[in-house]
Amino acid sequence: MDGKTHFIGGCLTGMGIAQYTNADLITAVSFTLLGGFVGLVPDLDVKGVLTKKISINKKWLIAVLSIIGLYLILSTSLSPHTYWQKWQGLLIGSALLVLPLLIITQKRMLILTGALVCLLSMYYESIWLMMLGIYIAVASFLPHRSLTHSLLGLAYFSWLGYFMEKEFLVDGMMFVCMGGYASHLLLDMKWLPKNRRGIKLFLPFSKVEI
Ligand SMILES: [Zn+2]
Repeated sequence: MDGKTHFIGGCLTGMGIAQYTNADLITAVSFTLLGGFVGLVPDLDVKGVLTKKISINKKWLIAVLSIIGLYLILSTSLSPHTYWQKWQGLLIGSALLVLPLLIITQKRMLILTGALVCLLSMYYESIWLMMLGIYIAVASFLPHRSLTHSLLGLAYFSWLGYFMEKEFLVDGMMFVCMGGYASHLLLDMKWLPKNRRGIKLFLPFSKVEI
């Protein structure tokens, strides 16, 4: 299923849980949005819908490094520098222009994003944020629609939700994480005619597609 459907599915789940827990208006809106976001999470794996949007955009990083490279080349060649310094400027500047194009991939950007979220979690001393960082970094190594689309992924994210609920002190948050995630798996299953392929729900124990 596409991102939009997953987002709507997650939002509806969050809204349902807000109804069920008699949440006040602000909590209900937060649950709806949280559900929508969690509904997108399993596609954080490489080639997933969310990957390009969430991870630091590689095009921006390449653009910034290219500008620094160009500046180095121009500034060292135009202003009075020794012959050797000009060569150095040209060499480093060219490396900054060319290397990022070869080295920076979306996968590596995803790993970097995960690592940054982990760092942030240490700053805020937050367990769920740490778990999210680990999830993002690990997902970058997984094939599309594999472990992120399994019961193990669901269990992990529900566990993350448990810590989120404890940190925010809002009852029902864990259920929103669990429900939002489950809604994604349901919408990616074979029972919907639109899905030609199902998901391997019981990975790593069984590869059967459901
Ligand atoms: Zn999916």
